[in-house]
Amino acid sequence: MLIVMHHHATAEQIEAVKTNVEAMGLRAEPIPGSMRTAIGVLDNQGYVDDSTIRELPGVREVIHVSKPYKLVSRDFHPQGTVVDVAGVKIGDGEKAVMMAGPCSIETAEQMHTAAQQVQAAGGHILRGGAFKPRTGPHSFQGLGVAGLKLLSDAGRAVGLPVVTEVMRIEQLDVICEHADLLQIGARNMQNFDLLKEVGKLNHPVLLKRGLSATIEEFLAAAEYIVAEGNSQVILCERGIRTFEKATRNTLDLSVVPLIRSMSHLPIIVDPSHATGMRPLVPVMARAALVAGAHGLMVEMHPEPEKALCDGAQSLDPQAFEKLMVDLVRIEAFLEELGD
Ligand code: PEP
Ligand code: MN
Repeated sequence: MLIVMHHHATAEQIEAVKTNVEAMGLRAEPIPGSMRTAIGVLDNQGYVDDSTIRELPGVREVIHVSKPYKLVSRDFHPQGTVVDVAGVKIGDGEKAVMMAGPCSIETAEQMHTAAQQVQAAGGHILRGGAFKPRTGPHSFQGLGVAGLKLLSDAGRAVGLPVVTEVMRIEQLDVICEHADLLQIGARNMQNFDLLKEVGKLNHPVLLKRGLSATIEEFLAAAEYIVAEGNSQVILCERGIRTFEKATRNTLDLSVVPLIRSMSHLPIIVDPSHATGMRPLVPVMARAALVAGAHGLMVEMHPEPEKALCDGAQSLDPQAFEKLMVDLVRIEAFLEELGD
């Protein structure tokens, strides 16, 4: 960290900053310049909270050299992490993984049909929400624990691992009994207590990007999980909130190559929540693979027009089947390119 002083800062002010830094157990090294003095902060093991220092008289700005994350960064771990979801591998060098299924679990029949359709088309992981983070309290909130059982039964029947969202710490025990991959939704990306708890588990975690989270905040959230000992984390870009209203969110595809360069964790893309529009889902799914995504999460419902949640963005089984055929061809093409 570098503390830059104002050009009119007094020797006393510089000394006061030095004393403050040292009180934090760190070393302060003033570097006098022709215009102003900068103070280098040394011996820090990671990100330093600069809130007190920034307010001291004479301080112009504080420049951070280290990031609020370390364990998830490529500098720390150059080799890409491969996450294993009950035998399905996601990450560097592995084939792209497709997670698909309805937004929410509705009935046993719906889940069994969806599971068969996902599996038959070549999908790898079955999704379905039992605890739904709906914007309004009057919308369908999910079947809860009863839904979890329908999901795991359907997954087992076709031999696919299952992923579902966890919203609260108290749900973890029962969700771990039924799910192979724990999803932390966009709204909970900064629920730090929940992140710490899943960090203590052996289950892999799918962490979705917050509605308006920067890349730094996204990676810092993943750091919470990894810092507790669980390095089986998959990141998921699902669109961010912008001024644009034509789409549900704005798909930030550039984060895929960027995060791949910054972090060793695998990253997948959810074009369903990113666009909110069925016709856009296949093309953005294809674009995500070309951008380097390690996989996709797509909503598919046996009868989207009857879906209790997110029907407008859910693919029907035929469109999903076509997408899977296209993705195999795109992967072969990317391999040919050597990417
Ligand atoms: C979901 O995947 O069901 C979901 C609610 O997604 P997000 O948290 O990205 O909105
Ligand atoms: Mn949904």
